[in-house]
Amino acid sequence: MTKIRTRYAPSPTGRMHVGNLRSALYEFLIAKHDGGDFMLRIEDTDQERYVEGATEIIYRTLEQTGLKHDEGPDKDGGYGPYVQSERMKTGIYMKYAKELIDKGEAYYCFCDKERLASLRTEVVDGKEITIYDKHCLGLSREEVEANLASRKPFVIRQNIPNEGTTTFHDELYGDITVENAELDDMILIKSDGYPTYNFANVVDDHTMNITHVVRGNEYLSSSPKYVRLYDAFGWQVPVYIHLPLITDENHKKLSKRSGHASFEDLIEQGFLTEAIVNYVALLGWSPEGNREIFSLQELIEQFDYHRISKSPAVFDIVKLRWMNGEYLKAMDDELFYEMAKPYLQETLKKDFDLRKIARMVKTRIETFLDIAGQVDFFEELPEYDAEMYVHKKMKTTRETALMVLTEVLPILEEQEDYSNDGLYETLLKYVEQKGCKNGFVMWPIRTAVSGKQMTPAGATEIMEILGREESLKRIRKGIEKLRDV
Ligand code: GLU
Repeated sequence: MTKIRTRYAPSPTGRMHVGNLRSALYEFLIAKHDGGDFMLRIEDTDQERYVEGATEIIYRTLEQTGLKHDEGPDKDGGYGPYVQSERMKTGIYMKYAKELIDKGEAYYCFCDKERLASLRTEVVDGKEITIYDKHCLGLSREEVEANLASRKPFVIRQNIPNEGTTTFHDELYGDITVENAELDDMILIKSDGYPTYNFANVVDDHTMNITHVVRGNEYLSSSPKYVRLYDAFGWQVPVYIHLPLITDENHKKLSKRSGHASFEDLIEQGFLTEAIVNYVALLGWSPEGNREIFSLQELIEQFDYHRISKSPAVFDIVKLRWMNGEYLKAMDDELFYEMAKPYLQETLKKDFDLRKIARMVKTRIETFLDIAGQVDFFEELPEYDAEMYVHKKMKTTRETALMVLTEVLPILEEQEDYSNDGLYETLLKYVEQKGCKNGFVMWPIRTAVSGKQMTPAGATEIMEILGREESLKRIRKGIEKLRDV
């Protein structure tokens, strides 16, 4: 059996879209599942779309997500160059384009802008394309030679007959047959000498021995034309896997506007790399069984591309949040602390024990950005309403809360030991004296020291963090508040 070789072939046009990350991940998993090679190829032939710094983003993202490539511009595996603009300089695309011309499968086209503008256009996949009328196919050999000799600008087009059909196979979609009349004579070599993506992907995938091609299904409609090129050369067509569209919650194509379309967006929103990779793996693919949490290594073991679905995958941020929370819970305490620290420091400027606070929030947040809302009350007591003291189940009313706070204040003023345990012991004695439930006492105290309905910890843990002075101050304030109403 031939060794599996897959490639991730991004165009350096900006941040790494979730769809691109999914293609890269699936390519990686297909290769690694079978001990194959995963290759990086930079497709930079569209000079107009090139974005400065985008190549660095690609390297950084692959590195961070653990999708280690075996070959690429920075790792020669004998199939280089791995950057299309550099491949172009070797003359490879022109050589193969000329071979197609000799076979009658391609031809020079010298039509100028004005002539092309007068031709029929059609909207394909939302893009307006010119239906070329094969005018230049009718040029005699002499006319072509003369044009070339006089350096008249040209492109090279694929010659697709108007009759017959073309069939190609996709692993998910099965056999797809199209009428040749529906296929345009697409440009293979542009007037600047660069190949189009349409041509370069075929030449490169073949010459780099790629066995499996995974990409978004926006390429599905062009694939018959690629297959015609493979056939014209007598090359073997790779296994094609066109992935379903990824949509946002409103079933619209996931786009920049949704705010979480790229890997970097998600990192900025406080998600963990591992959770993003895990979640993206499930955008269209599902393993046997109900399990959803997988490390990259486990994905490698489980991944089977035959289980990819054709139906659009909805990017569900709520689900990703849940998944991220699961990763946070399972994280080593020390690592969590290190990662949470910058977020804690952003909200907490006073001198708090951040390690303890980190431990409090670890199981209660879904992303790091949730930290602020959980811990902000430590920094400053928020404005709150006296109604917050009322708790039916604990039979707490404003009056009983006032009584409890008034009675525990002198006890807490006496107390020197403000450790969680010390405070708890003291308050428990008071509870026993009163013969009431814990909550009857703890609820009003917790409300007073936090000003919040929900906190990441109980009254005494909070007081331990706040310290004696601040805790007493807040309890006194609570008493005032309850007296005022
Ligand atoms: N350069 C193309 C893109 O970024 C790659 C498509 C493919 O994988 O063939 O969309």
